[in-house]
Amino acid sequence: MSGDVAQTSGVVLADAAMIKEAAGVIKRGGLVAFPTETVYGLGADATNTHAVATLFQVKGRPKFDPLIVHVASKEEACGLWAHCPDMTHRLMEAFWPGPLTLVLPKNERIPDLVTAGLSTVAVRMPDHPVALELIRQAGCPIAAPSANRFGGVSPTTAQAVEEDLRTRLDVILDAGPARIGIESTVVACERDTLVVLRPGGIPVEAIREVAGTVTVAHTNPAQPAAPGMLARHYAPRTPLYLLDGLTNPRVRLGPVGMTTGRMGLLSFGPVIEPSGFTITEVLSHQGDLVEAAARLFQAIRRLDAEGLEAMVATQTPEHGLGLAIMDRLRKASQGIALVAEGRLVLIDRSTP
Ligand code: AMP
Ligand code: MG
Repeated sequence: MSGDVAQTSGVVLADAAMIKEAAGVIKRGGLVAFPTETVYGLGADATNTHAVATLFQVKGRPKFDPLIVHVASKEEACGLWAHCPDMTHRLMEAFWPGPLTLVLPKNERIPDLVTAGLSTVAVRMPDHPVALELIRQAGCPIAAPSANRFGGVSPTTAQAVEEDLRTRLDVILDAGPARIGIESTVVACERDTLVVLRPGGIPVEAIREVAGTVTVAHTNPAQPAAPGMLARHYAPRTPLYLLDGLTNPRVRLGPVGMTTGRMGLLSFGPVIEPSGFTITEVLSHQGDLVEAAARLFQAIRRLDAEGLEAMVATQTPEHGLGLAIMDRLRKASQGIALVAEGRLVLIDRSTP
């Protein structure tokens, strides 16, 4: 970190003066947490190996997990890839700026550390005025994973970044809660095919409308579609269990049952009362997937702060943003929850 600013770390309003100062930090090889429309990112100059190494260290991220590089224009993206096929141009036209990350063969501008040694680089143009201004003023592409400790819940507010990483950052730019609330869709643009490596803020259906055939890589923990696609990720400290079904069953908690402690319910739609759960978080009273995605990580964080024995999540339909929500819930979960005679039974997934 660039020592001089490290002492003054903390959340600051992302006004023009602070964006300028933050851009200076990036130029000097420091780290800046900044807002995007998906989640808050932890940024470093993508062309500065030392800065990127510090980023991996601060985040506790394994070096085999490649970073997404953020740019402020389509031309800048094309300047990082070895080539830029027609289909890639069409996707950029349709979805940029926005939560779509495109993976293509790289040229020599981006160091191997950023891409975990891969010959491809993942690039996106965020749809957020602060992020775009920061990139422009820094004058370099910005490598940025989510601004949280590796494996944990992604931050959708500056305060969430501060909880996780405060003492280790130069600047945290605050521009309020992230609008989309879930990470970008990652798409590999291979010779003749598009492969969704990670579902995210742009629904696969929308990409199909533009591109025709799109394959969705299956999440097989033993064989990740891409490096860094780990089976367990996005996880709160409190164990999370996935319920079968879209709505909550009514449960009885108590010493006679399988569980004794306080239980949280993370519900996709309205809660059927009395639920029996100690505390509930509703993602969308209308059962709207876009709203649910925007609220997901904050709701998990709130439940996580309650000191519960466990939290139980209902599922969402797996279309639109539901595909991304279910991807995150599965990766955050420790196992499944069943209800037997009104009692919750929590079953841990066996680790491969
Ligand atoms: P995030 O954790 O949100 O920073 O997302 C980064 C993810 O994008 C990584 O964990 C990878 O799974 C994926 N990714 C980044 N770069 C590449 C790449 N060159 N090839 C394939 N996947 C990539
Ligand atoms: Mg992340």
